[in-house]
Amino acid sequence: MSRRALVAGNWKLYKNLRESAELASALVKATGTQALPEIAVAPVFTALAKVADVLAGSPIGLAAQDVFWEPQGAFTGEVGPLQLADIGCRYVIVGHSERRQLFGETDEHVGRKVKAVLTHGMAPILCVGETLDEREAGQAEAVVVRQLTAGLQGLDAAEAAKVVVAYEPVWAIGTGKTASPGDAQQMHARVRATVAERFGGGLAEQLRVLYGGSVKPDNAAALMSEPDIDGALVGGASLTLDAFSAIITAAK
Ligand code: PEP
Repeated sequence: MSRRALVAGNWKLYKNLRESAELASALVKATGTQALPEIAVAPVFTALAKVADVLAGSPIGLAAQDVFWEPQGAFTGEVGPLQLADIGCRYVIVGHSERRQLFGETDEHVGRKVKAVLTHGMAPILCVGETLDEREAGQAEAVVVRQLTAGLQGLDAAEAAKVVVAYEPVWAIGTGKTASPGDAQQMHARVRATVAERFGGGLAEQLRVLYGGSVKPDNAAALMSEPDIDGALVGGASLTLDAFSAIITAAK
């Protein structure tokens, strides 16, 4: 079965309100009516509502970069799934390596977040990926399978079918290094096989598995032409219209 590619831009902690709205608006104009992969952008929380307005009526989806798992309560500083759904988010990035490494997010937290996102009618982009030390120790697949299994913990098949997985080797994020298309393909196939073991081959065949980690206009086509790479989660290169548009065009 053919899977529709998804190219998602993670704007991280970049851009103020005006800059976020301008880039979103430029993207809407540039992508217009062309037949393209699915596109989503993830601005900072404070720009979500404004970017939602700019994207309204366009096929470009709104994504959040993180979420807390409780819908409401005494959780100062958090943003929950109710608020993100209310604002019109289609996707929520969950378990990004920067959250895991800099903010102490555990596999268990990630699993709770995935569930919360699905419960509120959005789709998680579940990030998994090994560090350089883990790769050099021959543990890359074991780490990815562990993170994936924890992220899908407690989901039923209907929920799992809505998940997007992003394989993002930590050593490739923001470094300019990228996995070779062959190495990435191997890990994507492992991700799909793991999902097949748990939920069956039919569901695994439909699962979209994105690659992330220094995707740029000059490497995007080679990565996304691999059979199990169904799009990209793009950080740095999603911050400018030209680079992001080139990656969108490179998607199958
Ligand atoms: C990311 O933030 O998910 C990412 C892949 O960043 P970059 O493309 O800059 O490596």
